[in-house]
Amino acid sequence: MASNCRPETVFESQTVDIQHCPDCQMIHLTMGSITIRMTEHHFSEFAKDISRGLFEFNTDSASQPGLRMMM
Ligand SMILES: [Zn+2]
Repeated sequence: MASNCRPETVFESQTVDIQHCPDCQMIHLTMGSITIRMTEHHFSEFAKDISRGLFEFNTDSASQPGLRMMM
């Protein structure tokens, strides 16, 4: 299964390499030495979660800068 993977790059940046794999019908997300594989559905949900998390993070650090420093 995994050895037959021939993923095609969808998007590439210095941070992440996003590939779609038609062999296992999964998204391969490569960050440095880590590769995460998830279903297409999981990936689209994950992408939304990331942007929500980023939004919350930006909102938090803007409104409560003191709280962040304690963590
Ligand atoms: Zn694959």
